[in-house]
Amino acid sequence: MSQFDRLGLSPSLIKTLTTAGYEKPTPIQAKVIPLMLDGRDIVGIAQTGTGKTAAFVLPLLERLKANQHKVKSGHCAALIIVPTRELAAQIDENIAKYGAHVYHQRACIVGGVKYPKQINRLKQGLHILVATPGRLEDHMKSGNLSLAHTETIILDEADQMLDLGFFPAIRRIVKQAPRQRQTILLSATMPKQIRSLATDLLDNPTDVAVAPQAKPVDKINQQVMLVEKPQKRPHIVTLVENQFRTIIFTRTKHGADQLVKYLSKQNIAASAIHGNKSQSQRQRALQAFRKGDEHILIATDIAARGIDIPDISLVVNYDVPTTPEAYVHRIGRTARAGREGKAVTLCSPEETNLLRDIEKLIKRQLPAENMAHAADNEGGYNPMSPSAAKPKKRPAEDAPTDDARVHRSGKRADQKKRRGPKDSRSPGNGAGSKRGSGSKRTRGGKAYADRSGRPRRAGGNKNPPRGPARRRAGS
Ligand code: AMP
Repeated sequence: MSQFDRLGLSPSLIKTLTTAGYEKPTPIQAKVIPLMLDGRDIVGIAQTGTGKTAAFVLPLLERLKANQHKVKSGHCAALIIVPTRELAAQIDENIAKYGAHVYHQRACIVGGVKYPKQINRLKQGLHILVATPGRLEDHMKSGNLSLAHTETIILDEADQMLDLGFFPAIRRIVKQAPRQRQTILLSATMPKQIRSLATDLLDNPTDVAVAPQAKPVDKINQQVMLVEKPQKRPHIVTLVENQFRTIIFTRTKHGADQLVKYLSKQNIAASAIHGNKSQSQRQRALQAFRKGDEHILIATDIAARGIDIPDISLVVNYDVPTTPEAYVHRIGRTARAGREGKAVTLCSPEETNLLRDIEKLIKRQLPAENMAHAADNEGGYNPMSPSAAKPKKRPAEDAPTDDARVHRSGKRADQKKRRGPKDSRSPGNGAGSKRGSGSKRTRGGKAYADRSGRPRRAGGNKNPPRGPARRRAGS
């Protein structure tokens, strides 16, 4: 007997899971599936890549199997609201996969796509609708969609929806559904605002947590490289060498495009996805990455949640994320479904306070390598240089997509508050390292040597990659 049986799923759904290679439920599935089938409201904290999607999609499909009903035109029985288009597309694909043997009508409604086709889909009446908040509200305001008969609402990646300022829209949307509905709220982190949204919109919810709050999956080998900003690009070239699939996160759209150009000059093919790219460009880049035609994807945070590609071996934070929660999501792109993975964060002197925020959130200090070893002759980051002592202005965040732009006003107010006084371990403070001055691997120390004791070379662009990441750009 499969362990999925015990959760109350029917044989044909279990068969689909077995074909997909799922032997047993993940912890979040074991907890959420029976509760959802029981009709409970749920607040779930789950790490990224833990099988969250199946946890809420399987009960929806199970219910559809048990009770095949036609949904009226312009209505949906279950609504899944997500922050990004990529995540919406991915969940839609997962519903198609898990629901291969269950009759259902579904649609994926996101911004950046023409309206008429979406209106036609909505007219058919849907069992499951996956949507981003901006476009969803547009359709509701235009009378193309009513939630009057919606039985289940799932709010996925609630903390990113909060970051993108979607909460006012979410409240307006959910309040149009009947009071007698089931509501599920899932988030990787649980800031106060999410708790209060849950109190407002959910009815006596059951709390489900499968991992300590905001703890990045254990199998990710996390490292920090302390490096001057101009040296970040050469380090990327060295890092992607011999990697199977790498995703590089940049803070800005411009930064992502610049990095694509730089890598292309080094004969390394890469594509970028961000809010200025059309939906078809974003899909094309993701497809090329998924299929392995390209081994490097450069993304802004907007894409961080939607990418589930099992074999991402390396995540690089080209910029330290401005919110610590984004760090958890970025690095969660690797080590998915029980695999191992590596995450490297390139941190310049201006970014050390952001790094400290991350360490506070994940409750551990990240191992850091000071890449300043060759600062004197190669222009690497020298923590003792006068420029290192001057923290610069906090860098601007990437502009949001059109879905997010409309709702930007709700941006979290606590972001600034969380920034404390200047980091005591800031390279500018010299001897401020918590690790002590005797360590070879120190953020504050002057000299740097690798584990073997040999000094390391800064900048790998003299030695371009030979691994699978290398491909003649444009060939
Ligand atoms: P998610 O967190 O929903 O994005 O899922 C992460 C990955 O885990 C996806 O590639 C799923 O296909 C996979 N997955 C989900 N549930 C299971 C399971 N029970 N056994 C093995 N893999 C799973």
